[in-house]
Amino acid sequence: MNFHVLTLFPEMVAAAFGTSITGRAMEKGILGLHTVNIRDFSLRGDGRIDDYPYGGGAGMVMQAEPVMRAWESLREELPGRVRVIYLNPQGRVFDQRMAKELALEEDLVFLCGHYEGIDERVLGEIVTDHVSIGDYVLTGGELPVLVMMDAVARMVPGVLSNQESGQSESFQGGLLEYPQYSRPEDWRGKKVPPVLLSGHHANVDRWRREQSILRTLRNRPELLETAVFDKKDRKYMRALASGQAEDEITPDQAVFLSKLLAIMEKS
Ligand code: SAM
Repeated sequence: MNFHVLTLFPEMVAAAFGTSITGRAMEKGILGLHTVNIRDFSLRGDGRIDDYPYGGGAGMVMQAEPVMRAWESLREELPGRVRVIYLNPQGRVFDQRMAKELALEEDLVFLCGHYEGIDERVLGEIVTDHVSIGDYVLTGGELPVLVMMDAVARMVPGVLSNQESGQSESFQGGLLEYPQYSRPEDWRGKKVPPVLLSGHHANVDRWRREQSILRTLRNRPELLETAVFDKKDRKYMRALASGQAEDEITPDQAVFLSKLLAIMEKS
């Protein structure tokens, strides 16, 4: 899979993406990164690509023409229709589902804004998707593009050494991941849960599943509304809600869970 990034700071994107797991995947040829410096397409002798906003107001705006030319330099190399994603705090919020969907593409183009953003007219010409990484404003699209490319890359077969680790992670199946432990068995008096040392795979799987449910209930209860549960899950959830499970939850969490179980039982 190839990522193409239109940016004013290609070295920033290349340095971070070339590190660790994504860097190794690039060495293996599983991922490719191609950056285009928008500044190279400046129409002015001083390399500037920004100008004052019409109508006044604070800050500068990236001009349409250098962005269009940077995109045109890239388009020649990309056959067929390709998604062009503008990193934009006003866009749809990025999530794991979108990461999985984007990982199916052969090529993805990302456009990073800076200053107050980019002239609206060129966005209308080239952008297919407006994507935000969260409800806050950053100085530029370089950190957001790195966040997105990292999450998408993990979903590309062969990028993770053990593909399983991408399958059981948080947000798969609507749940957060269970807690993880490594050696030693006893760390400063805190013990690893005995079931993980039992060697009984079915019990380990069940414990992890229940811990996923518990964690999701405690940290992101709204995710439970879209997750799918089997009979054993429901039994555990009923025990939790009625205070009969080993794990404790707050009265508010118990009310939430009871309502959810009632809805599930009706449907
Ligand atoms: N004036 C814009 C507004 O209020 O919507 C914000 C511009 S921001 C300072 C500059 C650039 O950073 C944007 O063009 C975008 O590429 C990027 N950016 C900032 N926050 C972002 C976010 N949460 N998600 C994605 N991109 C973001």
